[in-house]
Amino acid sequence: DLLANKIAAGEVVERPASVVKELLENSLDAGATEILIELQQAGLEMIRVADNGSGIDSSDVPLAFERHATSKILDDKDLFRIQTLGFRGEALPSIAAVSRLQIKTRTSTEQAGTCLHVEAGRITDSTVSAAKQGTEISVQDLFFNTPARLKYLKSMQTELGHVVDFVEKMALARPEVAFRLYHNDRLLLQTPGDGVILHAAAAVYGRELVKQMASVAWENYDYRITGLAGFPELNRANRNHCTFFVNGRYIKSYLLFQAVVNAYHTLLPINRYPVCILHIQLDPSLVDVNVHPTKLEVRFSEEKDLSISVQQAIRSALEQHSL
Ligand code: ADP
Ligand code: MG
Repeated sequence: DLLANKIAAGEVVERPASVVKELLENSLDAGATEILIELQQAGLEMIRVADNGSGIDSSDVPLAFERHATSKILDDKDLFRIQTLGFRGEALPSIAAVSRLQIKTRTSTEQAGTCLHVEAGRITDSTVSAAKQGTEISVQDLFFNTPARLKYLKSMQTELGHVVDFVEKMALARPEVAFRLYHNDRLLLQTPGDGVILHAAAAVYGRELVKQMASVAWENYDYRITGLAGFPELNRANRNHCTFFVNGRYIKSYLLFQAVVNAYHTLLPINRYPVCILHIQLDPSLVDVNVHPTKLEVRFSEEKDLSISVQQAIRSALEQHSL
């Protein structure tokens, strides 16, 4: 139903960064180890994401553009239990409803791939294509048929900033995946995809900065906490440089941020800010998604316990590291 898709698009697709998010998450769900992201004009003119993942079987390609046809889970509570990032079968139909989209895809078992054009939610063309294994989705003229939505967008610089922030977080979340991000044919970010978080962080923050950080590797019965922590001299804006992933999912957490700040408290020189990337693995039953699954806030059932664990993890990393 085209109208329903357009309405859903209002929730899922707010700005170019939301499109990048959904496409990237699909690529990761498809097991991609290499993902290329290209934007023109901050994504307003074009967003292209190409991956070497599983591809979509030709008979399933049209289904991917039907709402809820592919829903991966039944209940939001399962969010931290499931292994996939997508779960509602809503993203592709929503994006396609507000753009001109082209998909080229091929699975490993197919001889020929599929190429499909969708314009404002309607399939306009479907052909056989000689695509390589994986999926390439191009989204052109985002919001061309929803002018009201266009008006809400901020400057190109701001919109591009949101995309870059998001891709950086993904690159830190998945060091085993090689990411490349281009804007107007200029390379903005490239990670090696060798699984080493230090290398992914070096690509995001710069080699010099990362050299001054300590590795975090701590665990007890409930939590496994890994990553990098330090208080290097920042030459970038000093906001938000603590990034948290829970079971591979990027989250925002004031609780965790406070824990980090507490751990640094006595160690932190004046005018330095904590910089950290923490991956926290825990039993999914210890974390609950707050209200809306697309929101990044979560609720931990053992807050105090987790907070203490994070402090211990950071402290022991910093103590072992001569800064
Ligand atoms: P979901 O919530 O299932 O991720 P989406 O609308 O994002 O819903 O995607 C619809 C379906 O299309 C997915 O479930 C998946 O089967 C398929 N798909 C989308 N993108 C890709 C991709 N890059 N590689 C392989 N399959 C994909
Ligand atoms: Mg998805």
